[in-house]
Amino acid sequence: MAEFITFPSLAYTDRAGLDAYLELGGYRSLRKALFDMQPEQITQVVKDSGLRGRGGAGFPTGLKWTFLPKQTEKPVYLVCNADEGEPGTFKDRDILRYAPHQLIEGMVIAARAIGSKVSYVYIRGEFTEPWRAMEKAIAEAHESGFLGKNILGSGFDHELYLHPGGGAYICGEETALLNSLEGRRGEPRTKPPFPAVEGLYGCPTIVNNVETLAAVVPIVEHGAQWYVDLGTEKSPGTKLFSICGHVQKPGVYEVKMGTPFMEFFEQDCGGVLNGKALKAVIPGGSSVPMLTAEECKTLCLDYESCVEHGTMLGSGAIIVLDETVNIPHAVHNLSKFYSHESCGQCTPCREGTRWYEVVLERVLAGQGSMEDLDLLQSLGNQINFRTICALGPAAVAPVESSLAKFRSEYEALIREA
Ligand code: SF4
Repeated sequence: MAEFITFPSLAYTDRAGLDAYLELGGYRSLRKALFDMQPEQITQVVKDSGLRGRGGAGFPTGLKWTFLPKQTEKPVYLVCNADEGEPGTFKDRDILRYAPHQLIEGMVIAARAIGSKVSYVYIRGEFTEPWRAMEKAIAEAHESGFLGKNILGSGFDHELYLHPGGGAYICGEETALLNSLEGRRGEPRTKPPFPAVEGLYGCPTIVNNVETLAAVVPIVEHGAQWYVDLGTEKSPGTKLFSICGHVQKPGVYEVKMGTPFMEFFEQDCGGVLNGKALKAVIPGGSSVPMLTAEECKTLCLDYESCVEHGTMLGSGAIIVLDETVNIPHAVHNLSKFYSHESCGQCTPCREGTRWYEVVLERVLAGQGSMEDLDLLQSLGNQINFRTICALGPAAVAPVESSLAKFRSEYEALIREA
């Protein structure tokens, strides 16, 4: 059965305060990082743990930290991406609500590793409850000497600020987030330069996701090998998964990497809602290709297994679709979302996502033709590899994968019309 191993506070959703966190051993890792470890050692242990970015991209965290320039006159910033907005994803908000001190501790440890005196949590504007929990936790951490000047008498200073998001999905893309944080339009920047070299206010910046930064705490406490042993060789550790849709027990679960999907789905989540048959699963948030029920039988919850099955682990947002779901309808819903959220900078994304919406509406209205299915296919080819950021390709994934796996449902709509 799933249990909270690296996020123990998530098991106590009625107690998010400092006292409860200290009872669970909170801020021990920070003492260790401040008094027993040099910054390079912290980075090394995170590198050795194999921790990968939990926001969706899966980039190795410790390696990202090493991309900062070795010598710089400029301030170095740490930014926590708490703009969780991927459809189906709702695990970071649980950390913000129920484990805010673990995030603060992870951020101060990361800040010491990268030599940052100031960090920001860019928090989704709609997250009022998580915002309040974080505000309270930051005040408590200040009062107790875990934040501010001369933390715990170590000589290390660090200030942490909350910043409300602008309410756009695209602000979860790290460079759009930085623009928004600077008070500009939340539009992705062309890269290079990458944020590690030229990020917030033109200064070296590390942007990490909430879950990633919070996971640094148990890694520093127990060591890299402990974390590695929790998962598989190439996907070490555990991961938070949010599961929703037609599932008996939706929620947030911590799962050891490599766990067979069906074992998790049936034993921990109770299987499909109301005993219906499983039709499809979107395993990593709406921007990854969907899988058929048959494909799910051999899927394991780790990065490599997802790639072997032609999809991605993404942010770990599992959307379950049962036999009653009309796939073209579900895909149209997602296409509307991406069309609405495109920032409009790149023509293939701005126009292509709108065309997905228009063509799918035609098919659903009974006015489509078989040529429309080819048109949908060709739109994907016009969007992929032609955009500044990953939103364009994200819009392609549900359309392309559903056409490949559930084409008969599209054809039935056209034939019936
Ligand atoms: Fe904006 Fe879409 Fe281009 Fe991303 S891919 S920069 S969202 S237009």
